[in-house]
Amino acid sequence: MGHKHTNTCKDLLGNLSDYIDGELSAELCQELQRHMAGCENCRVVYDTMTKTVYLYQASAQETEIPPEVRGRLYEKLHLDDLRKPR
Ligand SMILES: [Zn+2]
Repeated sequence: MGHKHTNTCKDLLGNLSDYIDGELSAELCQELQRHMAGCENCRVVYDTMTKTVYLYQASAQETEIPPEVRGRLYEKLHLDDLRKPR
């Protein structure tokens, strides 16, 4: 029996986005955390993913555009047709 480290990495990383979203079962969360504690490779992947998600969420919050500004933005982008008629 050889060790299945690569398979384990693949399996766990497949669950990573669910883990970050908080949708992973507690059991799998623990498995993932335990694995990452001893696997630098997966830690790096996790780190990269959380940073990306964090940046995405941070910018998503900041880009809450008021309707009138969005209207002007659409005009600028020549998307005027997409605006709903009043
Ligand atoms: Zn790993």
